[in-house]
Amino acid sequence: MKTVRARLNWLAAVAAGLFAACGAQLSARADDATPGFRGDGLCRFALNQYVLPKVNEDKINLIVGDLLRRHEEAFNFTASPGLHVRIRIFGTFEGYRSFAATNRYSIEHESLSISNLAGYYSSRDNEVVTWRQRDPTYLANNILHECSHAIMHQQFRALPIWLDEGCAVYFSFPAYMRDAHDDLALRSRWYVLRKWLTDGQLPDLRQFLDLSPQEFRKEDPARTYPVSWSIFQLLMSTPENRRALNVIVAEYQKPAPKEPDCAELLNKFYPGGLVKMDKDWRVWIARGAANLLGPQ
Ligand SMILES: [Zn+2]
Repeated sequence: MKTVRARLNWLAAVAAGLFAACGAQLSARADDATPGFRGDGLCRFALNQYVLPKVNEDKINLIVGDLLRRHEEAFNFTASPGLHVRIRIFGTFEGYRSFAATNRYSIEHESLSISNLAGYYSSRDNEVVTWRQRDPTYLANNILHECSHAIMHQQFRALPIWLDEGCAVYFSFPAYMRDAHDDLALRSRWYVLRKWLTDGQLPDLRQFLDLSPQEFRKEDPARTYPVSWSIFQLLMSTPENRRALNVIVAEYQKPAPKEPDCAELLNKFYPGGLVKMDKDWRVWIARGAANLLGPQ
């Protein structure tokens, strides 16, 4: 099992090529103060019983900088030069647990036990909260997952919950930092998706797209996250689909008395409508699973 040090060392080697591209962007953000958090890069850190050497801080800035660029490309925006991602890291689970117990509300994982959580993003406090992790290889993926929420919630005032989570899963396993654990997780996601497809147990697409955050959180995350990820992938897979994705995100930003009907929006803007999207989604799962796992 890799240690954080080994993983970050490896990331550093990979990230070295990114550094030149990131430098100007990072230094442009150096002057913005973020009370309670320190750092001079894109990410600002609050550390509790946790030592983050400058070299590792720089590496996190690099991978989150890369993450931000991927979101900018996917959603056609340019982040404000003042954008920061605030990350609070605890050195112990107990420190994390007691902080979360008193500070965690209006966040995404209300219905889950805190012991199941590697971290969370608080929209109220606009910060990612995590801890060192029992399995240190989780830390980088967890930071990326929660930083995806931080980036999206600073850019957009409202999003469908499946899109928020599907996007975070999609961007938290970049190919350049994938390890054996990530490969296994990827194979498991394709395996369960194909099994649900074959057994006729995929959720009804219209109902799934329209789940409220509260309804979504009541479902099993072992099901909702892979399903959200597969739908997000389909929408990222062609320029036409990506246009539909961006149109619905734009629709969510319009002031309205109630949350938009996401399924109806996709019925209107997905090429061929929702019936075609449902068909394409099933084909996408069958093909993606066959590519990675081989024929059934
Ligand atoms: Zn999440």
